[in-house]
Amino acid sequence: MLWPHARIRRARNVELQERVAAVRRETPESDAWLTLLEAALGESEDGVWEAAVPSPAAERPVKAPALSHAQITVDGRAARRSVRRLLTVALLSQARKIDAIAVLEAALGHDDARLEALAQAGNADPSVVRVAGQMATIPLLRACARGLARELPSTWWEGYCPLCGAWPVVAEYTGLERKRQLRCGRCGVGWAIPQLRCVYCDETHHDNLGYLTPEAGEQTRKIEVCNTCKGYLKAVTTVRPLAPWAILVDDLTTVPLDIAALERGYRRPERPGYSLECRITERRGWGRLVEVGGGWWRSLRQGEA
Ligand SMILES: [Zn+2]
Ligand SMILES: [Zn+2]
Repeated sequence: MLWPHARIRRARNVELQERVAAVRRETPESDAWLTLLEAALGESEDGVWEAAVPSPAAERPVKAPALSHAQITVDGRAARRSVRRLLTVALLSQARKIDAIAVLEAALGHDDARLEALAQAGNADPSVVRVAGQMATIPLLRACARGLARELPSTWWEGYCPLCGAWPVVAEYTGLERKRQLRCGRCGVGWAIPQLRCVYCDETHHDNLGYLTPEAGEQTRKIEVCNTCKGYLKAVTTVRPLAPWAILVDDLTTVPLDIAALERGYRRPERPGYSLECRITERRGWGRLVEVGGGWWRSLRQGEA
């Protein structure tokens, strides 16, 4: 699926570059996915996404994530170019025929039917568009996580992400306290929930909750399992929380744990914890407004008066 000559904006973070290079050496078969991830993280560093303005819905159910039914305003042209660069990494010339912002909006809400229709319109492989679409949500969701950090609830007892509704990729046990913190792979947000509670079905009875642990060696890894819903979640003990970019790289390098869980009949839900249904609005001509902002605004005000 990968086109090595596509123009890729690489992440400048040196630690990330080194980690990705090491993973690429260890698992050459994941090269296509890693290149897409690298490109998404490179786009994350682009100022384009810092200009995104998420407006949460005025009223939403108490269990709805912050971005549920939100309107997100982006710099239309720059955002389109950024998503298209990512789609080009995966699809090359077919990317031009696909509505980049529509892909982003559908991927935010895990709307697979819409992604499939968009892929068909561009004559592209739906599964590739789905993966590239999820990667494209990363820069936007990370920017939203920074923008809405103060508005996230201080306690959140749902298993899905309080910002974007995705299931966590990993449970972290950090520092001396070993408090359980769930981490979202899309937006990087972390939230604490009690140790004895299934992320997926809220089971709290300890007889139905357990762990799988590697037979030897790796002491920092385990898999949390629930025998009520047969769900599993990988867990790691760390000195400090994983950087947002490291969550997805770590997920890739621990695939043997996923295989072990699947072989024992456990699985991760196919659908997200909460479907977002948020809307992306394109702001046009923003650059010019900034340039002449004071005068433009003044004359508008005067015109009103
Ligand atoms: Zn999230
Ligand atoms: Zn469960």
